[in-house]
Amino acid sequence: MISIQTFTVGMFQVNTYLVTDTATGASAIVDTGESHELVQRLQALDPAPDIQMILLTHGHIDHAGALTFLQEVWDVPTYMPRDEQPLFQTLPIQGTMFGFPQLNRPCGRIDHLVDDGDSVQLGETTLSFLATPGHTPGQGCWYDDAEILVGDTLFSGSIGRTDFPMSDPALMKRSLLRLMELPGHLRVHSGHGPVTTLDKELRTNPFLGFVRKAKGMPAGRGMDW
Ligand SMILES: [Zn+2]
Repeated sequence: MISIQTFTVGMFQVNTYLVTDTATGASAIVDTGESHELVQRLQALDPAPDIQMILLTHGHIDHAGALTFLQEVWDVPTYMPRDEQPLFQTLPIQGTMFGFPQLNRPCGRIDHLVDDGDSVQLGETTLSFLATPGHTPGQGCWYDDAEILVGDTLFSGSIGRTDFPMSDPALMKRSLLRLMELPGHLRVHSGHGPVTTLDKELRTNPFLGFVRKAKGMPAGRGMDW
């Protein structure tokens, strides 16, 4: 079992997470923000968390840009989706690409590249990795039997943008179909916005009409994309 603390940080108001195995207190940081804010907020915690690893959902600056800041304080194994490498390697120029050259960042160190179906052990909790490319080439989700951290794959009432240079809408549709095969009770922790559940999004998310159709449900109100 895990507990999840949310830290919404930086100029993109990205949700970063401290995931803690409740049995042992072992913690993982999921995503980084682009500024020093997450480091400062984690350092302010009392008692200090037992941070054992850093997990990335994808390589956009708001999710991976502060990796070096974190690693200067917590020199722990860092995991990233393998297929995210081409995007991650653009971190030193991503700020410029998005119009914020002051946010160009060094890449930080990746110790382990993960593929669909891989998992990591956090204390007594196994966190599984589901590859959900589309928003980015390697975007992925980390989950156990109750919670899922989805990065920018899925939001409450929306989905991640697919109009970026390395995005792929067709891949995104396939990924959302796979994501919606997971148990509906999973609580969804997104890269931006509030917590939701897979079941609630399946029923109400306007971008998931094609998933409802594939499952033989009424498509409902929604967006074709
Ligand atoms: Zn993103």
